[in-house]
Amino acid sequence: MSQASATAQQVVRDHLEGITCRPPLTEVQQASYKEQIKALLKRENAVLVAHYYTDPLIQQLAEETGGCVSDSLEMARFGRDHPASTLIVAGVKFMGETAKILSPEKRVLMPTLEATCSLDIGCPIEEFDAFCNQHSDRTVVVYANTSAAVKARADWVVTSSIALQVVEHLHAKGEKILWAPDKHLGSYVQRETGADVLLWDGSCIVHEEFKAKALEDIKKVYPEAGILVHPESPQSIVEMADYVGSTSQIINAAKTLPNKQFIVATDQGIFYKMQQAVPDKELIIAPTAGNGATCRSCGNCPWMAMNAVDNMTEVLESGSNEVFVDPGLAERAMKPLTRMLEFSAAKK
Ligand code: SF4
Repeated sequence: MSQASATAQQVVRDHLEGITCRPPLTEVQQASYKEQIKALLKRENAVLVAHYYTDPLIQQLAEETGGCVSDSLEMARFGRDHPASTLIVAGVKFMGETAKILSPEKRVLMPTLEATCSLDIGCPIEEFDAFCNQHSDRTVVVYANTSAAVKARADWVVTSSIALQVVEHLHAKGEKILWAPDKHLGSYVQRETGADVLLWDGSCIVHEEFKAKALEDIKKVYPEAGILVHPESPQSIVEMADYVGSTSQIINAAKTLPNKQFIVATDQGIFYKMQQAVPDKELIIAPTAGNGATCRSCGNCPWMAMNAVDNMTEVLESGSNEVFVDPGLAERAMKPLTRMLEFSAAKK
């Protein structure tokens, strides 16, 4: 295990130990927060950009106020193109940074600045820069779940929805790839494209938790269920999938595949939008929490869960938790980000 990976695991363990569960809100409290947030969004000329993994209440608010609920690629595009002067990004740190890089003239606020990602933590710029320098013959492709500094060091940024297409494109041009930080997604891309891919040793603590043996067991209980898997999951899980794809792609697969039940290997926040898309189908979370795991996530990202209606209200009231990115870094990170958005627009 690399030093960066060991440090990341320690940071993750420390974070998880410090988490205290929020008591659930009553219906009256939920309605009151929703009303306050709606009024504040108007007052602040702000729009809510939320990730699929956030609390369903936040996703509902985004839907009801003309915001968006999506994956990180669409969040980036939506925030950039929306006319509001303030973006409220409900997700994790790299999503707020990406929004700020793509919309430097806008104010970007986040319900919490503490929400990060094990992939981002596990890829510190100093070690990553040294790794890139050791392999300077390779095209550097980084996943969106990275810091602005790591993006600024990259040739390409990709999300899981276009990772395969970008690497296929580079492979066809004869380029060798240096991939960071998610080793499971990177190895999936390597297997699917046949490209020469050198992997950084990072992983997502949520997706790494899905267990093949337990998935086999649950499949016996629901033999007709289709298995939908996010490619941040380990190879043993990917190999059992009926469909592998990004969050948006697996929601779409739930619509198009004929199965009436699905076992879903990604964060269970996705169930809110997925159930809307397939109201007559049954969704089952893939099993987690085997022995020897980094943590027990139960298919729930602990950082995404830090976004809540109370801290969102506070931030809208006070204008605190504004996201800033060093302008020099932002200018360099903008290049691979723009390349990603243009590539994805051209593929549509
Ligand atoms: S689910 Fe995994 S990849 Fe997504 S933000 Fe959480 S730790 Fe990062």
